[in-house]
Amino acid sequence: MTLALRGVMWAGVYVAAIAAPLFFVLIGAPEGRGWWADLSMALGFIAMAMLGLQLVVTARLPQVEAPFGLDVVLQYHRQISYVILAFVLLHPAMLMVQDPSLLRLLNPATATTAALWGLASVALLLVLLALSIWRTRLGLSYEVWRVSHGLLAIGVVATAFVHIERVGYYVSGPLARAVWFAVAAGLIGALAYVRLVKPLRRRKRPYRVTAVTAQPCEAWSLGVEPDGHRGLRFLPGQFAWLTIGRSPFSVKEHPFSFSSAATDPSRLEFTIKALGDDTARIGEVEPGTRVYLDGPYGAFSYTRSEAAGFVFLAGGVGVTPIMSMLRTLADLEDQRPMHLLYACRSEADLLFGDDLDGLAERLDLSITIVLEHPSDEWRGPRGVITPELLDERLPARPRRYAYFLCGPPAMMDALEADLAARKIPPERINLERFDLI
Ligand SMILES: Cc1cc2nc3c(=O)[nH]c(=O)nc-3n(C[C@H](O)[C@H](O)[C@H](O)COP(=O)(O)OP(=O)(O)OC[C@H]3O[C@@H](n4cnc5c(N)ncnc54)[C@H](O)[C@@H]3O)c2cc1C
Repeated sequence: MTLALRGVMWAGVYVAAIAAPLFFVLIGAPEGRGWWADLSMALGFIAMAMLGLQLVVTARLPQVEAPFGLDVVLQYHRQISYVILAFVLLHPAMLMVQDPSLLRLLNPATATTAALWGLASVALLLVLLALSIWRTRLGLSYEVWRVSHGLLAIGVVATAFVHIERVGYYVSGPLARAVWFAVAAGLIGALAYVRLVKPLRRRKRPYRVTAVTAQPCEAWSLGVEPDGHRGLRFLPGQFAWLTIGRSPFSVKEHPFSFSSAATDPSRLEFTIKALGDDTARIGEVEPGTRVYLDGPYGAFSYTRSEAAGFVFLAGGVGVTPIMSMLRTLADLEDQRPMHLLYACRSEADLLFGDDLDGLAERLDLSITIVLEHPSDEWRGPRGVITPELLDERLPARPRRYAYFLCGPPAMMDALEADLAARKIPPERINLERFDLI
């Protein structure tokens, strides 16, 4: 089955799963409680299904992620949470507009037990959203946010379940109860899969560090090889979550793109820039350290595009997934024309300088390096990748090429807009954002 078809299939499964709880409204209360009340309940059940599916969507299931790319899936996870909040708030609001005496359910002193569970669920959901939207402003580290996000999500879903149970009206019949418990079991199963099954599987397939090499730009290349197994196959440009020197159950794991060629999965390389607490300590990792990999993930790969050639636009450490693609293309002796425009701070920050020269000899590859703060001796372009520079360096018939952008967010936004203005079809523009969260 093609990736596009798989995408359509998963979208269909998702819509069916959201619509399924409406089944309760139909079979659980055949007499109905009036149009508005039934609609309000339907919204509540849909919101409940979507909340549960949020746990599944972020479970990093490779089969589900592959057609879309993890960044698209996570973007969806973020955006849809506002829709869920709207449904959750509309659910009681509709009942209260129809019968204002129900406003008493908002007051914990006069609310029923069922309403209290509902209020608890909404309160937890609001805290969860606030922490996610203002994480950096609140000064929460990524790890603290991630653990609290997971616990709050479980809290929101569990309290919503109890709320529905206590209301009871729609889930009292035997068939409805059976389906209801199957849904609950499915969600617990998804959680167990993410928190237990996946780490246990990773424990059986450890990797170890073979070399840690200092690179320019405050970066290190980490050589990694499988320990007692054959390693994993990945597409050039993809990434994996790495747990370095910790248990596979640890929440201290970080996503890094493979910078090695995909042609030899037994010798992996990641090139990591010091951008925060954990990445600043990569240089201290000793060869032999145990590493666990969760992956591969991502849709940022030339293998997914039928194109006459490729244009790679990289900024700083964003060159890593592009290196993996170029190294793979060279190993496969690909003859198609390629252009790399690579923006960096200065000569001293240039990653993979010698390797790029070697690749230019093996491929039909033109390389343009743009330096923001070069030395006086620099003869190449200065500043950033501008529309004028693109005019100069882009190939003739640019719409026949596939484009790959990875770099700082501002650079990616500007270049994406520029390519769109040149009428490059959106499906030919591929982005990898390192600020996924
Ligand atoms: C798809 C993808 C590929 C990446 N590839 C590379 C690469 O090849 N080389 C490289 O140097 N960097 C890469 N990064 C960035 C790298 O993951 C972060 O720099 C690293 O996680 C920062 O961790 P820290 O503890 O040092 O910094 P912190 O100070 O803890 O975090 C800095 C920021 O990094 C992000 N971050 C931290 N931990 C995670 C996590 N577990 N998952 C997602 N985001 C996180 C958060 O936005 C956080 O605010 C990639 C990121 C993504 C999303």
